[in-house]
Amino acid sequence: MTGLADLPPLREVLAAEGLLARKSFGQHFLLDLNVTRKIARLAAPLAGSVVIEVGPGPGGLTRALLESDAAHVIAVEKDPRFLPLLHDLAAAAPGRLTLIEADALTVDETALIAAHAPGLVPRVISNLPYNVGTTLLIKWLTGPLRPVAMHLMFQKEVALRIAAPVGSDAYGRLSVIAQAVAETRIAMTLPARAFTPPPKVDSAVAELVLRTQDRPSAARLAALETVTAHAFGQRRKMLRSSLKALGGAALCEAAGIDADARAETIPVDGFLALAKVVEA
Ligand code: SAM
Repeated sequence: MTGLADLPPLREVLAAEGLLARKSFGQHFLLDLNVTRKIARLAAPLAGSVVIEVGPGPGGLTRALLESDAAHVIAVEKDPRFLPLLHDLAAAAPGRLTLIEADALTVDETALIAAHAPGLVPRVISNLPYNVGTTLLIKWLTGPLRPVAMHLMFQKEVALRIAAPVGSDAYGRLSVIAQAVAETRIAMTLPARAFTPPPKVDSAVAELVLRTQDRPSAARLAALETVTAHAFGQRRKMLRSSLKALGGAALCEAAGIDADARAETIPVDGFLALAKVVEA
């Protein structure tokens, strides 16, 4: 039986199948297993976990995840051209890889876990398609999946926004929503040349370790999305003006926030206080 160690190099597999990257699917592949193993190690230990991987493509990161101690991997790929390659990978790791041909934007991860890996602890580890990366991140942060941690490759600029401290140029809506739910940091950066084909910009892995205590409710997170959309939609304006549609100065006063301040100076707790008032 073919094991993971017997699989041919990814470049050979892609060439043999004549597979070229599709721009519309955000395809930039990691073909160096040393790199994908490094990403899997960032997330270790994975024992007892089910890893959701979006966009396995030719399977470089998937191989590294299957070489790890992860109990199960559920890989969701929209491009059917990769399914035959991925089936070879599944055969080399019997019973540990579930392949789902679907759009990750609409897939119900909790139902997939209940069906294929019940009882395991969910995590997300992915080299994300850049065009839908932030939408997927918001889905996992605010939705029912409740992963314990996520290690996600984004354009470097997006990863920096996720981990940005209050007051910095990169601090914005994504920083507030991510940091309301998780401890965030940049775990690794990668130059564009590490990918095939190389994207226009460098990339970075954002690590998000989700809080187990004091997690805002779904309703509070929905209010937080609304408040931050208004506040950072006009980030140079004072909150009394940018939040006008939600109550302006009166909202700020009720939340104990200075209405003359600008969004980028308000810490995550301040936005949660505003969201609490909006929710009520
Ligand atoms: N994981 C592979 C790697 O590291 O080499 C590929 C990463 S590539 C940046 C993104 C992958 O996501 C591609 O395989 C692409 O086909 C897939 N993809 C794009 N949009 C998707 C979607 N909405 N749902 C599921 N997969 C998607």
